[in-house]
Amino acid sequence: MTRAAAEWAKTVVQRLRGEYPDARCALLHRNPYELIVSTILSAQCTDEMVNRVTPGLFRRYPTVESLAKARLPSVEKLVKSTGFFRNKAKSITGMAKKVVADFGGAVPRTMDELLTLPGVARKTANVVLGVAFGKAEGVVVDTHVHRLSRRLGLTKEDDPKKIERDLMELLPRADWIDTGHLLIGHGRRVCAARKPACERCILRDRCPSSTA
Ligand code: SF4
Repeated sequence: MTRAAAEWAKTVVQRLRGEYPDARCALLHRNPYELIVSTILSAQCTDEMVNRVTPGLFRRYPTVESLAKARLPSVEKLVKSTGFFRNKAKSITGMAKKVVADFGGAVPRTMDELLTLPGVARKTANVVLGVAFGKAEGVVVDTHVHRLSRRLGLTKEDDPKKIERDLMELLPRADWIDTGHLLIGHGRRVCAARKPACERCILRDRCPSSTA
């Protein structure tokens, strides 16, 4: 890591913070159980769609214990519109069973423990740790963070784990939680996958991928 790279990463976070002072997780949830379920369901699906599905799911299964006892077909039916519903139903019920069996019904608070749960990889674990528990153990790398980190020259990597490692090296721990929210927000509003709106981007003067 060069000093210039770290300075640029800091500038990116500072400018995006100015632009999106309220950046936060868009998944509706009332507790860590609802957040971990919503995050698993958000794979390959928009947060809006997840937010449409989860009220019905949590009405039927309001606790991790109730989801642990659920019948798979009824969960599949409830999460169908989030896509890949068979896998997702299996993941969330498997996660719930393990949380009940191994963690006394409380969503665990460490990366190592979260990674033992079905359907939970580092992205989901980082969302839960950062949003539900305020713990910065890593940086959320979803499709937006992946794309923007590369366009902004914060990483040359393509593997989410290596991208996360680069971001963790470039940025102070105090910025890790916000960085995910900020890059996701900017990716949704300005730096879209197909057609980035470089002409109205506050990073265009220094972004190596700017077309403006
Ligand atoms: S200048 Fe363009 S490519 Fe760079 S971050 Fe902004 S929108 Fe994305």
